[in-house]
Amino acid sequence: MAPRTSPRRRARVVLDRLAAEYPGTARDLCALRHRDAFELLVATILSAQCTDERVNLVTPAVFARFPDPASLAEAPVGEVEELVRSTGFFRAKASSLVGMARGVEDRFGGEVPSAMEAVTALPGVGRKTANVVRSVAFGLPGLPVDTHVGRIVRRLGLTAQTDPVKVEADLDALVPADERGAFSLRLILHGRAVCKARTPDCAACVLADVCPSAGDAVRPARGAAPARRAGSAGRGSRAGAALAGPARRSAAAPSTAPTGEGEARAGSRRGAGATAAKASSRRAGTAAGGAHRTRASAPSDSAS
Ligand code: SF4
Repeated sequence: MAPRTSPRRRARVVLDRLAAEYPGTARDLCALRHRDAFELLVATILSAQCTDERVNLVTPAVFARFPDPASLAEAPVGEVEELVRSTGFFRAKASSLVGMARGVEDRFGGEVPSAMEAVTALPGVGRKTANVVRSVAFGLPGLPVDTHVGRIVRRLGLTAQTDPVKVEADLDALVPADERGAFSLRLILHGRAVCKARTPDCAACVLADVCPSAGDAVRPARGAAPARRAGSAGRGSRAGAALAGPARRSAAAPSTAPTGEGEARAGSRRGAGATAAKASSRRAGTAAGGAHRTRASAPSDSAS
């Protein structure tokens, strides 16, 4: 069983370990290609229920045709719809994009605002998207909470909340302001590579020795095949799933994960000791061999 530590102390360990695993600033870690806050806002809106790869294929044409809020504010919605059609939910997204641009033009003189209240007042822009723009484009405190983030911090015992706004508030109390954006993106990468919703690979996790959920069983979704027990996988199985190609995997995964994921449950702690030992052993290898180098999908608010 992982030793009992205070959430604050555990958070510090988690922050440091994940920073070593997934190095870089929030800007480095963000997979959405952009040159400024406006382009990131456009890309993040498009990334709802879509892969970053797809968004990055679509945005060059969008940015070429509508290089600033003024041009996008005047755009025929139908033309925007055609440009963004392949990202899914294209009618809602096109409407949000044009509405957002008009808001930026009319209320903020053509400059994307950085204040949370101002960004979230724009059409189609929710708190997750605003936190992405604040942390990645402006370097301001912002901790986007998506399903990966919520799932992992609950497993880590850093919050008991399920509402994203409350999760964010709990994390804000534990995470220094200048680390929040990168922390969120690192959690997303970790959620895709190791701490997966149904099959967390605790045996390969650098957080296993401090994670209260290490080695817990995962409840299978109704009708689904039973999930393999957390911690049962060897390094080989994880490597194929994540570290052999983490950048490709993270880029291809949807920006907003589906809901209804299984969660690690309190229960048997058997195997946690062995799990922590394996992870510690792996950490030594990581330190020697270098950390993961990849980019994370920026969480976005649903466009649907
Ligand atoms: S030890 Fe297991 S449950 Fe805890 S963060 Fe790592 S993979 Fe997730």
